[in-house]
Parts: sequence; C-alpha cells; structure tokens
Amino acid sequence: MRTLLALILLAFAIPASARLAPEERRMAQAVESEAGRTVALLERLVNVNSGTLNLEGVARVGEMMRAELEPLGFAVRWIDMRETGRAGHIVATHEGPGRNVLLIAHLDTVFEPDSPFQAFARAGERATGPGIGDDKGGLAVIVAALRAMHAAGTLRTANVTIVLTGDEERPGAPIAIARRDLIEAGRAADYALEFENLAIEDGRDFGTVARRSATSWTLRARGRTGHSSGVCGAELGCGAVYEMARILDSFRRELPEPNLTYNVGVIAGGTPASIDTQGLSVTASGKTNIVAETAIARGDIRTLSAGQEARARARMQGIVARHLPQTGAELVFAEDGYPPMAPTPGNRAILARLNQVNRDLGLPEMAEYDPARRGAADSSFVAGDVDTLAGLGAGGGGAHAQGEWIDLNTLPRQAKRAAILITRLTREAR
Ligand SMILES: [Zn+2]
Repeated sequence: MRTLLALILLAFAIPASARLAPEERRMAQAVESEAGRTVALLERLVNVNSGTLNLEGVARVGEMMRAELEPLGFAVRWIDMRETGRAGHIVATHEGPGRNVLLIAHLDTVFEPDSPFQAFARAGERATGPGIGDDKGGLAVIVAALRAMHAAGTLRTANVTIVLTGDEERPGAPIAIARRDLIEAGRAADYALEFENLAIEDGRDFGTVARRSATSWTLRARGRTGHSSGVCGAELGCGAVYEMARILDSFRRELPEPNLTYNVGVIAGGTPASIDTQGLSVTASGKTNIVAETAIARGDIRTLSAGQEARARARMQGIVARHLPQTGAELVFAEDGYPPMAPTPGNRAILARLNQVNRDLGLPEMAEYDPARRGAADSSFVAGDVDTLAGLGAGGGGAHAQGEWIDLNTLPRQAKRAAILITRLTREAR
C-alpha cells in the first residue's frame, strides 16, 4: 500500500511538460523508486579498491557488475587481460531484434591500494570517494538505467552490448590486444554510449560529442661534445641542448591551431643524458664547460580529428628535420595513444535524440561541450567506427584527485535519460 502511494505521488512529481510514452514514464518511476538502491550500489563499488594495477580488485568489481547484469538477462563474459599486464574486461550481451546499442564504462580507477583515498563518504547530496565519478558513478547509472528498462519491460527485446574495461586509466600493452574486444564491439554496434563523467558548467548539463586524442612523444637530440669555448663554432656546432631548445620553441611558435595542444612534460640534457625504460624518468649530468652531447624530452599532443593528428605530426617532424649544424634529433610517437573522437554529424545526431529525451522529461536541452576541456577516453577507440555520444555518467568534480566527488542527484537524472535514450535507439528503423 505504501509503495502504491509512493508511486502515485511520484507520478504527480513528473512535470506537466512531460511527453513520455507510458512505458517511458514507468522507466522514470523505476529509476526514482530505486534511487536509494543505486546509491547503495555505488557505495559498495567505491569501497572496493580497483586501482588499475590492483588486478584482484578490478576483477572483484567485474564480479559485482556480473551480479547486477546476469539477473537482467545479460550473458556476461570476463575477458582475461593478464597478457597485457592488466586484469581484464567485462563484455555483456543482451540479444534482441533491434539496433545494437553499445554501452562503455570502466571498472578501474587511478587510486591504487597505497592511496590514502579509499572510502565512500556522503554529506547530503554530495558524495566523495576514489573513482566515484570516474567511473563508478557511470557503472551505477548503467545498472539503474537497465533495471528501469527491465522493470518497464523495454529491456526484454533490446539489443544491448556492454563493455567495461579494466584498464581505462592505464591501458595494458600492446594496445591492439588491450582494446581488441572494445573495438570489435564498436564495429558491431549501431550506436555507442559512453558513461564517463557528465560535463556540467554553471549548473548546466552538456553533451560530449567529441574528445581529443592523446599521444605521447619522445624527442632525442644529439650533438658533438667538446670544450665550451668552441660552442656554435663550425667544428662543434651548438650541441644537443640548443638543438632541443630550437625544436621545442619552434613547436610552441608554429604548431598552435584551434583544438590542438602540445605539451612538454619532462626534459634533461647533458653529457651524458638518459631515460628509463618506462619513459617516466630522465637523468643528465654535465659540466658547464662541456657542450652537451644528448638531450631528451617527452610530452604529448592532443588533436580533435585524425586529419589534424596527421597534419600536426607531419609538421612536428618537419621542424625536427631543420637541424642546427653538427646536430641531429629524432621524434617518436608512442603507439599506445588515444585516437581522437571527432565531432561528426552522427555523434551530433545522438545528442539531438538525447535532447528530444530531455524535452520529453521536462529537462533543459544540453549544448555541446568544448572538447578542448575534456580528456581522452575509451569511447575514442570506437568513435571511428560507430556514432558515439560520451559523458553519460555521473556529474561532479575532482576526477583523478583526492576528494573526487559527485552530486548524487545526477544519478537518477542520467539513468532516466539513458533508459529512455537506449530504448528509443534500439527501436530506430533501419
Ligand atoms: Zn574514466
């Protein structure tokens, strides 16, 4: 009786502007009535450490998601990824006659077991915890949306695939194996929806139709070494440090264009200079009166499209090739980078469908978020093959830092949007 009364009250709570089909209204009501369950699930997910290198913890979060998805009728597989140095991924499928919608999120977080930040804490509608938004809030939104579809009967015939990677924050190597299953699922899908953090600014929700690439590069310069009295003379040339300085400063002056950034993260030069095998630590020694023999720098570039990426790389190589006399240099791009997710008409069409959902829910429309303000994510690996909309997870802030938080109100808001959007997309005419 009490539940019935609550349901009647909830029905009145939905704005008069709502133009939902009866089953869509049932999904929205199911999300509301399970709001407490969703927060409790999020709390349990956050309280299991799943730092990317904590393979056991990542697998445990995978098992927790299996326990949520199997009762909804999903066939759940664990894809072991130990050959890449990582735990593995969850791939879950729910077959149906309609369009295939791929849902993407991740099990891992940046907080390893040695981090002091380990537990869920709640103060009113604000909750903090490691990975609470990135990406355990996304996992909670997916479960809440699918449970609502299940309750309303719209999941029964829905064709949905879910890929939850276990190494989004530090992908395993080689990337061709680490992202094989995600890329395959993207190729087979008609639409992809990624549940990383919702972009919010000044209280307004935004849609993510684009993400920039992230590619690391390593630059090594070398020169002739000798007594500093001969520096920049015909015989010695200027040495490796001047060559490095020329290249980096030319990058800074010549590369800039909209949506492209170039960063130098670490540098060392001297006689000698070296870099560790992980590429994280450079060391150098030298004397003030010796012309430097070697210089090493590492950094990244971020671009918005494959064309911009190719153009930027070519321009960088062109700058490198203009060597100072008696010097040389070589620029190598890492192979494990994230490709760009360009703002395609197809991605924008999914956002338009989401905005129809927003109107029908009585929510404001969502504008496109500036891709320069977002990082790369797993959706980038499928966006070249399938229309993709990103940022469908929880909204908050402080991702990758202690004190990471979300606004718990974003969970039901995002789950309603997702349940209705997934349902409508799976029923799109071919
Ligand atoms: Zn993430």
